[in-house]
Parts: sequence; structure tokens; C-alpha cells
Amino acid sequence: MYTKIRWSLQLFGAALALILLAAGVWTFNLILVGAAVASAFLAGRVFCGWMCPVGAWCDHVLAKLARNRSARRFSPGTGRLFAACFIGTFLYLAYTGLLGRGLPFVLMGTTLVLVTAVGLLWGPRTWCGQLCPWGALAGLAARLAPYQLFTASDCRQCGRCVRACPVGGALEAGSPGSWADGSCIRCLLCLEACPTRSVVLEPVR
Ligand code: SF4
Ligand code: SF4
Repeated sequence: MYTKIRWSLQLFGAALALILLAAGVWTFNLILVGAAVASAFLAGRVFCGWMCPVGAWCDHVLAKLARNRSARRFSPGTGRLFAACFIGTFLYLAYTGLLGRGLPFVLMGTTLVLVTAVGLLWGPRTWCGQLCPWGALAGLAARLAPYQLFTASDCRQCGRCVRACPVGGALEAGSPGSWADGSCIRCLLCLEACPTRSVVLEPVR
């Protein structure tokens, strides 16, 4: 139902990133990060699921190459530690000016290599759900969003939502009222997979 809209927006996001890059706007990735975190304050990580160029790479390229399509779940501490190290290294390099104008390219290149390696090893969207430093920031903002994704009381505990989830189960099946955690990229595949329409994205009362 939402696939065509999501794919169109992902194409738009990737095209926008390439145009900004071609125009020499080296800070474009920070603009995308800002958009991801700002939108997460409203409805969670919608940018990650619907517009991020890296997500488009995962969904349209890695998904075709990766053997294992369900994402790996690391412990929450592992993801946070990785995000802190990644952001810390980035800030250190920016502060010291060691890489000069090459910094955005190193950042983009490193990210793409890591996303691809992780995606091929453990599932295309493993990076987005578990390791992406910017996604981790957006995940924190998502906790404050007035709109949350959760399971309603008529859930039959069939587990289809978890199996459909590209980040490996951000929603706890069979646990009515529980919110999707910070790894949820709001792709709404679980909502489409649920036979009883028990997955809802609604304002929190
Ligand atoms: S797919 Fe729907 S009914 Fe099945 S476990 Fe998930 S929320 Fe419950
Ligand atoms: S919980 Fe649902 S919306 Fe969130 S990432 Fe998983 S499938 Fe997508």
C-alpha cells in the first residue's frame, strides 16, 4: 500500500543528496541528519524509513545482494557505544581539521563501506536499526514524539509484524500497548503485515 510512495520519496532523497553533492554543498549530510532528527520529534524516524539515501541503498541494492534478509539485533549498549565512538571520531576530526575539506568524503565513504559490510553480513537494514549514529540520535528524539507506533489490545500474537520488520523487530509482538523502540524506522511494513490491524500509529493519549 505504501511501497510506491516510500520508494518515490527515497528516490527523491537520493537525487537531492546527489544534487547537493554535485553543487559542492559538502555539509549536505548534516542537513539530512538535521531533517532526520527534527522529523523524529514529531512522528519518529520517518526520515530513515522514507527518505534517507542510505536507506534507499539498503532497500534497493543491499536487499537484492544480502542472503539473510532479517536484521541482526545487537544489545542496545553495543549500538550506543558504536554511535558514541563514531560521532566522537567525527567531532574530533572536525575540531582538529586533520582532514580539511576531505572530511565529508571520508565520512561518507566510511559510512557507505560500513553500511554495505553490515548489510551483507547481517541483513540490509541492520545498520539503520542498530548501528547508525544519526539514527541513534533520531531514535532518542522519537521517544518524545506525540505520534507513536504500538500494538493494540486485539493483537493475536501471530508474530507477523516482527517477521516483516526490516530492523529485526522494533515492535514487541503480543504486548498490547507497547511502543516500537528507537530502532523503528516507521516503514509501516508491520502495519501492512498485521491481519487484525492491531499495529497503529496514533497520537499518544
Ligand atoms: S501481526 Fe498483528 S496480530 Fe500478529 S503479533 Fe503483530 S500486532 Fe499482533
Ligand atoms: S516496527 Fe514496523 S514500522 Fe518500525 S521498523 Fe519495524 S516494520 Fe517498520
